[in-house]
Amino acid sequence: MNRPDRPNRFEVHDTDALAAARDLIAACADAREMGQKVQEAVARNAAWRGEECINLLAPEAPTSPSVRALLAAEIGTRAAEGHIGKVNRWFAGTRHIDEVEALCVELLKKHFRCAYADHRLCASMIGNAVVYTALSAPGDVIMSVAQPVGGHSSNRIDGPAGAMGRKVVDIPFDAQELVVDLDLFRKLAPLVQPKLVALGLSMTLFPQPVSEMKEIVRPWGGRLFFDAAHQLGLIGGGQFQDPLSEGADIVTGSAGKTFSGPQSGIIVWDDPEITAPVTNAVFPIWAATHQVNRVAALAMATAEAIAFGEKLQAQIVANAKALARHLHERGIPMLGAHKGFTATHQAIADVSGFGRGLQVAQTLERAHIIVNKNLLPSDRKEDWDYPGGLRIGTIEVTRFGMKEAEMAKIAEMIARIVVEGEEPERVRAEAVSLRRSFSTLYYCFENGMPPA
Ligand SMILES: *Cc1c(COP(=O)(O)O)cnc(C)c1O
Repeated sequence: MNRPDRPNRFEVHDTDALAAARDLIAACADAREMGQKVQEAVARNAAWRGEECINLLAPEAPTSPSVRALLAAEIGTRAAEGHIGKVNRWFAGTRHIDEVEALCVELLKKHFRCAYADHRLCASMIGNAVVYTALSAPGDVIMSVAQPVGGHSSNRIDGPAGAMGRKVVDIPFDAQELVVDLDLFRKLAPLVQPKLVALGLSMTLFPQPVSEMKEIVRPWGGRLFFDAAHQLGLIGGGQFQDPLSEGADIVTGSAGKTFSGPQSGIIVWDDPEITAPVTNAVFPIWAATHQVNRVAALAMATAEAIAFGEKLQAQIVANAKALARHLHERGIPMLGAHKGFTATHQAIADVSGFGRGLQVAQTLERAHIIVNKNLLPSDRKEDWDYPGGLRIGTIEVTRFGMKEAEMAKIAEMIARIVVEGEEPERVRAEAVSLRRSFSTLYYCFENGMPPA
């Protein structure tokens, strides 16, 4: 309710959405009914997004029954701060929590072929804040990629890096090739001598020159930080460049993107010299109680990745390539077409000639096809809310067993709506039926591999 003494206070959220929620709450007879309203909204999402939509959001992934069950486990009600081990913990009673967390750390180290891993980040964003805390200081120069060519706010002036007083200089980026412009980087980096180079891409189609960049910053002790939020699963599954073995000092990543685990973050590294600053930045700076249920689910997802990751990630990439190629052939310009479209789970469409990203994404939603609007390298600052592109990801459709043949069908549905102007409502039944015919989640211990 608006208080009369504060009639026009600023609200960042959609005011209609908040007003609708207030009306719902006001119509409830009691608090129990208010709780039911929450459950009903969750159930509506499960029925719609969970069963009737072709979900092509690049940063999301469905989780296996075991992972989901662990998220609701008793252990998630327990408090455990600090590092693993009796003496390290503030609270008594953590012996089995130590077991679970140690399993998680060792599974991560095994899967990512690294010497150290941290499991306590409730978001990859927080992992990035840990890296800034551990490996740079306020006033230091860091370099990162700007948003229109794929960068993410967590490494920019409007995210943790900027909020923590780091000075942000752009990594020169070749907007055609969608890779770092090494020649320019070689000229610029020595002039600003960044303490940390944060190579993080939310729009990510191709490998980046990690070893060359590390050699360029090495003379002044610069560190290379690879933010693999999106590519983490691909890296673990051996389907992308391996930044640590190419010279990156530290890698963060989202557990809920290609890695297909519970939404949260991880950090991996090899260098013992940074272990104290990194782990001391995790605790007690950026994590206290760190959701042990989530840690258990992360450990389970890592075991799944050890068993199925290589095949799952290879099919995710094959599907993204196929989807991009079919869209391109049907008249939607795709970024990276001259380089084979993509080497990741993403395909990026330029829909600036079809009403731009927001409008196209909303139109596709009416057909139950879910994608996100995305900035393109050609977008200007004033375009940010209405960017020219779409980002399309293949994690979920792959996990439900779809392959190249289904990518052709999805591309056809998208093109009928976007290129040929067919009413999305006329395509919806086909989208729902395709989704319903792929309802088993594969690449997990319950259901194994999809049928050949
Ligand atoms: C998604 C993303 C993040 C943030 O990850 P969360 O797990 O959502 O906190 C950080 N960096 C990049 C490049 C991303 O794409």
